[in-house]
Amino acid sequence: MEGDGEVGGGTRGGPGGSSPRANTAIATGSHLDSVPDGGAYDGPLGVASAFAAIDRLRERGFVPTRPVAVAAFCEEEGGRFGLACLGSRLLTGVTAPEAARELRDGDGVTLAEAMTGAGLDPARLGADEELLASIGAFVELHIEQGSALDGLGAAVGIAEGIWPHGRWRLDFTGQADHAGTTRLTDRRDPMLPYAATVLEARQAAAACGALATFGKVTAEPGGANAISSAVRAWLDARAPDQGVLDHMVGQIEATARRAAEAQGVEVSMRRESFTPPVEFDPALRARLAAALAGRGIAAPALPTGAGHDAGVLAARVPTAMLFVRNPTGVSHSPAEHADLADCEAGVVALAAVLEELTSR
Ligand SMILES: [Zn+2]
Repeated sequence: MEGDGEVGGGTRGGPGGSSPRANTAIATGSHLDSVPDGGAYDGPLGVASAFAAIDRLRERGFVPTRPVAVAAFCEEEGGRFGLACLGSRLLTGVTAPEAARELRDGDGVTLAEAMTGAGLDPARLGADEELLASIGAFVELHIEQGSALDGLGAAVGIAEGIWPHGRWRLDFTGQADHAGTTRLTDRRDPMLPYAATVLEARQAAAACGALATFGKVTAEPGGANAISSAVRAWLDARAPDQGVLDHMVGQIEATARRAAEAQGVEVSMRRESFTPPVEFDPALRARLAAALAGRGIAAPALPTGAGHDAGVLAARVPTAMLFVRNPTGVSHSPAEHADLADCEAGVVALAAVLEELTSR
């Protein structure tokens, strides 16, 4: 939205218009993309709530002292090109434009080709320092991806920070053979150390108070009556701090190597992505908490294991997040849900926050 003193919709040019002043704009929003077969709220709730909150302030005749901008980041889930938070990583320079242009989707189409096909210029990808400098604060509203708020009996909460998290690829390589004629003792079956590694991941996560998940695996050649030649699996690991995460992933890797060796299988493990821990801006969080408390809104502080554009922006801009209650805690699934009353409570909270941040 353009210009001081007016609340309006999103803008293509930037939150400050054609000549943004440093640190003046308050930005809010989230993402519109989803994981394959995902839910309706993860992402879109934050974008829709941004407009609804602005409408609310407008209806009340509130006149902000700073510009308010609405952001919808692309490819937050990395569902098409595989790199989560691609939009915010490009904006902040965390991901180089040359690398982004070469990312390929499942059909082999590069991001550059997809952009050109959609009428966009891939040469314009990259960090936008002027835009970043114009943002005084970014607040992302998001459905909670757990059920902590439900347990606390609160409709909205304030995020404290994001756990460090990463993705590791494991390749177990054995020997393809006949399932009906190869004696058990003669097999080099990569499925066995993979299975041991999955169980270790669960045990290590439970012991560490962390999270470890194998949600994607492929077996080659993939015949029901053949011993696999290779199993490729992806470990997603998250923990309250870096030390715990390193310890847990180390334990999982040690088990993978031991179990592979016992079966005469080769294993390699490499990190594909990593996001360090994020602590959202303490002063901004305190301001949000005070603004909500002043309106009688109880908003407990929560940690989260999920990555967000807000987590990427936090390295460059004072950033905070509001969570909206998710009664079952289910996310990244069509069963993801928020009650209408809680969505409205989220809009009221976001409007209160925008009013607080643009009143002076
Ligand atoms: Zn999201």
